[in-house]
Amino acid sequence: MGSNDRKAKLSVVDYIKTDRELLIATVDLLLHILKKQREMEIDKPVIIERLSTTFSDFETNFSESIETDKKLSEELRIWTYKTYEYEKEKNVSVLRQLINEGYLTFTEIERYVVCPVCGSPSIRALFICPFCGSFKVNTTEIVQHTVCGFTDAKVKFWSKDELVCPSCGLRVKEEDLKILGRIFICENCNRTFRNPSIRFECLNYNTTLHSPKYKFDPLESKVRKIYGYNITKKGERLIFSDTILIDALSLLLSSYPDVIIFRGGDTKNFMEETFKIKELEFSAIIIKGTKAVALDVVGEEAIPFLVKAGVVSRTSMIYLLIVHPDSLRTLADLEKMHSNVRIVNALELSLDKLKDLVVSILSN
Ligand SMILES: [Zn+2]
Ligand SMILES: [Zn+2]
Ligand SMILES: [Zn+2]
Repeated sequence: MGSNDRKAKLSVVDYIKTDRELLIATVDLLLHILKKQREMEIDKPVIIERLSTTFSDFETNFSESIETDKKLSEELRIWTYKTYEYEKEKNVSVLRQLINEGYLTFTEIERYVVCPVCGSPSIRALFICPFCGSFKVNTTEIVQHTVCGFTDAKVKFWSKDELVCPSCGLRVKEEDLKILGRIFICENCNRTFRNPSIRFECLNYNTTLHSPKYKFDPLESKVRKIYGYNITKKGERLIFSDTILIDALSLLLSSYPDVIIFRGGDTKNFMEETFKIKELEFSAIIIKGTKAVALDVVGEEAIPFLVKAGVVSRTSMIYLLIVHPDSLRTLADLEKMHSNVRIVNALELSLDKLKDLVVSILSN
């Protein structure tokens, strides 16, 4: 019971911090949604385009089948997460948990049919004659002979190379035929029908789960739902006021052996010991040899950072500000005023880019 209680209380933020891959993926995900949402009209949901390697078994099948169809994967790529045991006997994905805790909202955008065996969305529809089962089904115009009122598929009027009414036997001119609509006709048994039987054929030939050209009925098929996501204010604040962005960056930088990262109170100590500046704290200070970068994540409140930048300008450090788009204008002049300030628009970032930027500053 005790361990279950603790699991139930674990928030999604606490959870992602326990897993390097999830943390990096989630931060990139939130940055990605924020960026797309800003680029598009307000409230248009973002279809998540990146494939993660951390999938549940169920989702792995799906993603693999999408990847085997290169064209489709370009149009429709889905990001899902490894599911985890959040409550006993219940798997809840990180994505769903971000929604439950109010960081994201979601709406269903569309549904499409996938192969019930391999899960591939790459399928084609076949029309089958409901009478004889032939696939030689075509569409034709349904016409009425205006002279006698007889109505049937136009192909039934063709007699050698002229039109003859099958009912009254008169030779028919095109203008004597009134087009009433279209209908299916079977070229095997010659019967017409409004609704053909439909079968699907899976076009995924790379799977070992079924033989090539595997066919299935509509009722056997599976339907996959596509969701779009919006980031909420709470989600934005998570990126800009919580420490997860720096947590994820630190993880990426931890593979560089000669890089030292100070966080929280340690940055304050570093400032006091190195520069004799008291009570100045940063999200992080990253050091390599004699080079140091002070890093802050700036949300919607930008004013305090104007003052901070002034103080940092008296040191040998580079001051790197990762800035919420709404705060960019407030801080725009800082780069001109102080040569050691770097402003980065958070929307132009991925974690990899941010890591590369920090590494390049430290190496110059
Ligand atoms: Zn299949
Ligand atoms: Zn038929
Ligand atoms: Zn007729």
